[in-house]
Amino acid sequence: MGCVINAVIDFIYPPRCSLCGRYSGDEEGICPECLSQIHYIESPLCVRCGKPFSHEFATDHFCGECLTRKRYFTRARAVGLYTGIFRKALHRFKYQWKHCLATPLGTLMARRMESFFSDGTYHCMVPVPLHPRRLRKRGFNQALVLARVLSRIYHIPLDRDNLVRTRWTQSQVGLSERERKDNVRGAFTVVESARITRRTILLLDDIYTSGSTVDECSKVLINAGAGKVDILTLARAA
Ligand SMILES: [Zn+2]
Ligand SMILES: [Zn+2]
Repeated sequence: MGCVINAVIDFIYPPRCSLCGRYSGDEEGICPECLSQIHYIESPLCVRCGKPFSHEFATDHFCGECLTRKRYFTRARAVGLYTGIFRKALHRFKYQWKHCLATPLGTLMARRMESFFSDGTYHCMVPVPLHPRRLRKRGFNQALVLARVLSRIYHIPLDRDNLVRTRWTQSQVGLSERERKDNVRGAFTVVESARITRRTILLLDDIYTSGSTVDECSKVLINAGAGKVDILTLARAA
């Protein structure tokens, strides 16, 4: 009976791809053709920050930046490059609050997570927090929405209110790397250190640009006693 009802619903409201609008045949929200246009990030890449290398290098290694700069996170990985259809999807998800994209984008992250962090066992997932003022304006935290999907799939507890943004920061858009780092310095605080003592944490965000936001969060978590922080984002700016 359920099948009949679903068939009727599909007939009246055929499931459409939320990016290209074509009939997609399933409820995933993004059609296979759009999914195939994403520039997925794969090896060879930087073992620390996940920056993809051109194929002249065969194996993963440290990029120049990660060799010279202290990073507080252990590994950062992203599903795909922030370009083309993926950029469009993230933009719709974040600024137009296309709720139907939350599950397909979160599922995409979950799938890639297996290949990136096959050895990882995480005590908890922590989304990069928004400042309460930005949260009120946007209405939702995109990192939290994605973290919820992953937490459900992997049964990893979600720690959503222990890392907080206590200082208002201007948008990172258009800032240089140096400015981004200064902009987020001292912006985050851990509420209850005991909850993360020696814990292995997966920190989630939507986009990795210069890495200054996720590294500042990692610094605060490590200084509060966390054992290790890995980063997973949907997209990487370059
Ligand atoms: Zn499509
Ligand atoms: Zn690197």
